[in-house]
Amino acid sequence: MIADPKTIDWQALGFNYMQLPYRFEAHWRDGAWDKGGLTQDPNMTMNEGSPILHYGQGAFEGLKAYRTKTGAIQLFRPDQNAQRMEHAADRLLMPHYPVADFIDAVKQVVIANQDFVPPYGTGATLYIRPILIGVGENIGVEPAQEYTFRIFVTPVGPYFKGGLTPTNFLVVDYDRAAHNGTGQSKVGGNYAASLLAGKTAHEHHFSDAIYLDPRHHKYIEEVGSANFLAFTKDGKTLKTPKSPSILPSITKYSSLYLAEHVLGMKTEETHISIDDLDEFGEAAACGTAAVISPIAGIQYGDHYHVFYDEKKVGPITHKLYDLLTGIQFGDVQAPKGWIVPVTD
Ligand SMILES: *Cc1c(COP(=O)(O)O)cnc(C)c1O
Repeated sequence: MIADPKTIDWQALGFNYMQLPYRFEAHWRDGAWDKGGLTQDPNMTMNEGSPILHYGQGAFEGLKAYRTKTGAIQLFRPDQNAQRMEHAADRLLMPHYPVADFIDAVKQVVIANQDFVPPYGTGATLYIRPILIGVGENIGVEPAQEYTFRIFVTPVGPYFKGGLTPTNFLVVDYDRAAHNGTGQSKVGGNYAASLLAGKTAHEHHFSDAIYLDPRHHKYIEEVGSANFLAFTKDGKTLKTPKSPSILPSITKYSSLYLAEHVLGMKTEETHISIDDLDEFGEAAACGTAAVISPIAGIQYGDHYHVFYDEKKVGPITHKLYDLLTGIQFGDVQAPKGWIVPVTD
């Protein structure tokens, strides 16, 4: 059933699917994309041999539309999502969906569902989910002959319960991705591989799993499906893990830029050993869904490491959160090219 925007309690939204009136779909056949367009059907029909179903040939993206104080709607760096999907397409031998067409399709879907972009001040946003999948008759392990590109949207609240309240994470033995595998690409298989780790963390009452690097099981890689940020105790440096199996988070690179150019901090992509957490006064998980989520503590074997405070957000994490969300919701001047208006 299609939701009615008048009855939505925007403050109470979690990170859930809600069926909205419109989505965008385009098809690749005989070596070219068709024009694509909006459709009202939330279901997709595909051949039973479709490579996405058997062999996971597909990639996705995640970005948000934000309602500003004046009621306008804007996007945050959608070109970065479009480019990252091209990177995933290269890794899985899929055709590119052109960057300009990607941004145009995102705008079309947001405009068509604009009554569902949550009001300014609720903290809620319209989450945008593009997918690119291999479809059509097939049985062997080989690239699809046809592809579908689709974008749907759904209003969301905070990803981790509590929003800007610190939560705990559990270091797990499972690997999310291998160094020369597909960790850098937003492709479905990585997330199927992460479900058991996430379940293990939830069963022990942690927000999510923390993965260590697959080679040494020593350096932090990812926090569930978010990247890891840590601030040194002197408050001068923002460090984040460097590894070929980490998904390059747009929120992370935006945070590094803002920390350096606005907050005057040093930034470093480097190895962060799970045994050296004492170096840091604050830590956070970052991503489009997670935004900047403060990390209270990390459980590693028998050791529980607390960063700033189990209940309170640290001052630097708070400053970065305010700056980033200020830009996203249009209250703070953005670096050139970061904000793409959809409606005014
Ligand atoms: C999407 C994602 C992130 C966050 O990336 P953003 O571009 O900031 O949304 C981080 N880690 C993983 C594994 C992801 O899938």
